[in-house]
Amino acid sequence: MLFPATIAGSLPKPSWLAEPDRLWPQWRLQGADLAQGKLDATLVAIKLQEDAGLDIVCDGEQSRQHFVHGFVEFVDGIDFAHKVEMGIRGDRYKAMVPVVRGALKLKGRVHQAEARFARAHTQRKLKMTLPGPMTISDTVADEHYGDKVKMAFAFADLLNQEARALEADGVDVIQFDEPAFNVFMSEVPSWGIEALHRAIEGLTCTTAVHICYGYGIKANIDWKNSLGNEWKQYEEIFPALARSRIGQVSIEAINSRVPLKLMSLLEGKDVLIGVIDVATDTVETPEQIVQVIGEVMKFVPKERIVACTNCGMAPMHRDVANAKLVALGQGVALARKKFA
Ligand code: ZN
Repeated sequence: MLFPATIAGSLPKPSWLAEPDRLWPQWRLQGADLAQGKLDATLVAIKLQEDAGLDIVCDGEQSRQHFVHGFVEFVDGIDFAHKVEMGIRGDRYKAMVPVVRGALKLKGRVHQAEARFARAHTQRKLKMTLPGPMTISDTVADEHYGDKVKMAFAFADLLNQEARALEADGVDVIQFDEPAFNVFMSEVPSWGIEALHRAIEGLTCTTAVHICYGYGIKANIDWKNSLGNEWKQYEEIFPALARSRIGQVSIEAINSRVPLKLMSLLEGKDVLIGVIDVATDTVETPEQIVQVIGEVMKFVPKERIVACTNCGMAPMHRDVANAKLVALGQGVALARKKFA
């Protein structure tokens, strides 16, 4: 089947579970109610994706407050009680981050509950996302390893442990989110990809990496506006990704200033192309989605194109996100007719 449809990973949470329209929402439930609420929201997220006609569904990241901290809160050796302010993503914005104070070790399973629950309630292919080692290392302060690369590989070992367990839970696709890959471009070929290789070691399921220019929040929009008309950052990292053992690369396409021809540098990879813009509430038409797929087909063989969102939809309004899921399903249906 051409153009299987999926999402980058996150969906907005229901307002009974967490504060709406926030990137760092506070939970509205506690204890056992929170645990059950996360699973209930997972079921809703899966149903909405299935009804929209998506082929590879996700848990919508309903069980995590934030895509990085949802992982690191399960890691021992990190002090969450005394967060420090740090410039992240090359100082694009400041965030209060936890501090690594000892050797890193998983406290236990990270996403077992939602992965098994999702697996039990969908017949479709299931994707789970994890933050990538470079991005995690850029989102915590280090008081222990004294070396960012060494710390990133320590995180990669833990990611590998969880990824293998997710595969055993029946997950079909494991995706690592590496927005830091377009901030530290020179470090991607020198160690970023090797850290990802460590994270996927021993996996037989499909593996993916999502790189992007970030959510549609103000700090990102300002940064994007400073980058000029043509974003060529990926020119440095795509050849290295093409040589890597990662199966799929997820990048934005619609309304992006990344020249689509750069995608030809990803030869041999499945490319998850963003046909849904997460930085605008305007819902795409199926025709617009077909047009983006047609443009990308000039540079990527159609058999390797997966239709996706540009990035996570966590901070969006729920009704808008849902309308965009529906548009995605309709767009790929139309594209299959047109490009069969
Ligand atoms: Zn993203």
